[in-house]
Parts: sequence; C-alpha cells; structure tokens
Amino acid sequence: MSEKTRVILKLSGEALSNGDSQAIDPEKVRAIAKEVKMAYDLDKFEIGIIVGGGNIWRGKTASEMGMERSSADYMGMIATILNALALQNAIEELGIETRTMTSLNIPQVAEPYIRRKAISNFEKNRIVIFGGGTGNPYFSTDTTSALRAAELGAKRILMAKNGTDGVYDKDPRKYKDATKYTQLTHQEVLELGLGVMDSTASALCKDNDIEIVVFDMNQPGNIKRAAAGDAVGTRIY
Ligand code: UDP
Repeated sequence: MSEKTRVILKLSGEALSNGDSQAIDPEKVRAIAKEVKMAYDLDKFEIGIIVGGGNIWRGKTASEMGMERSSADYMGMIATILNALALQNAIEELGIETRTMTSLNIPQVAEPYIRRKAISNFEKNRIVIFGGGTGNPYFSTDTTSALRAAELGAKRILMAKNGTDGVYDKDPRKYKDATKYTQLTHQEVLELGLGVMDSTASALCKDNDIEIVVFDMNQPGNIKRAAAGDAVGTRIY
C-alpha cells in the first residue's frame, strides 16, 4: 500500500479558457500543469484530476434553449474529454507520466475508466485525468469528483476556483460585506444552500466523509497547499 495521500483536483472547464476568444488556451493549460507539477513533486500525493466542460458546452444551458437534455449532456461530457486531453498534453510536456481515463469509451485516445486500473495507475505514480464525467446525463463533473473520490478512496477534493478564494455567506462580487468561511460542515453547506457543488455531489461527500477544499487556483502554489491540507480558502468536512 502506498503511503501517499490520494486527492482529486476538480478544475472547471473555464479554468482552461481565456474568456470568449478561445475555449482552450494552451497558455492557461500550461500554467495549470505547472501548478499541478508543484504538488506532484512533493512526492506525497496521488493526484486524480477531473475537469469540467463549461468552457465549451453546458448541457443544461443548451436544453433551456430547446435542445433535448440527454443529447446536450452527452455533448457536454465529450467537451470534458477535449479538456482532459489538453491537460494531459501539458502535464506530459513537463515530464510527468499521465493516463486519461474516460467514462465514455474512445479507446483510440484514452483508456476506458475501470476502477482497478485507475488505482493501478495511481500506484505507478501516474497522474490520472478523468474525462467524460460520470458517463451519465443529468450529472455534473462536481458529482463525478465526489463519485470518483468515494470509489477510489480519495479523502480530499480540491475544488480549484477561478475568481473566488473560498465560500462566502453571500456573493462577494455583489456584496461588499460578504464574509468568507474558513470552514464549514457538509451539513451546513446543504442547509444554508451555499451552492459549493450541486446537492448530489455535496450529499455524496457528506455520506462518504470526503473533505473539500475550495480555493483560488490563481494564487501560485495553492494547488500544492490545498493538497497538503494547509489553510487555504474554505475547508468543508
Ligand atoms: N455532464 C453530464 N454528466 C456528467 C458530467 C458532465 O451530463 O457526469 C455534462 C453536462 O451537460 C455539463 C457538461 O457535461 O453541463 C460540462 O460539465 P460541467 O458543467 O460539470 O463542467 P464545469 O462547470 O465544471 O466546467
């Protein structure tokens, strides 16, 4: 058994984009890869990465515009695979071995997601990038993070945020007097409706004792700090 702590890093799709002009900005992806490497180089963590697809496509938005929800969601899942492959490329350029595993099978480009193989990849010191969400419509990549953390025995999800540095009692962009929580219980997150993750994902974390750290990924070194359990952002337990 490895002594390392297994963590799941959740990146939103938007973290890879530079706004409107480019859904996947190689510069941004490279910068994230460097931050991931800082955590990897500590040699204390087995790192799984789950990336969203919101920079390219969101099923719910498309369905609100009249598209059939399941088809729209499958498109969203495929979008997450594009992001996963971009991340894989950038991390491997830094000399780290990785595997992308997808819940929708595209064997020509990535391994199919098989739990035991994922564990074996971790044990071989590979960073594992999970594409395709849960493989089911009506879910999100937040839920995927909770699900993979539970089944792969990861005790901590690192929720990397772009433009916010934790969980607040109200929207800090709208209210000057918004207060940041340094820690919260899962129960409080659910009761207060704080919207850290969708409620399915929150409930899964609560039921399986998975800690979540919500932090600002734009602060250099924060992924490493969050992995180590240092006080960054908001800790939910
Ligand atoms: N999606 C899905 N099932 C999953 C994960 C994702 O149907 O298990 C679809 C859904 O349409 C979602 C899109 O993929 O809108 C992109 O994922 P998400 O919204 O979680 O990405 P993020 O907001 O993190 O970029």
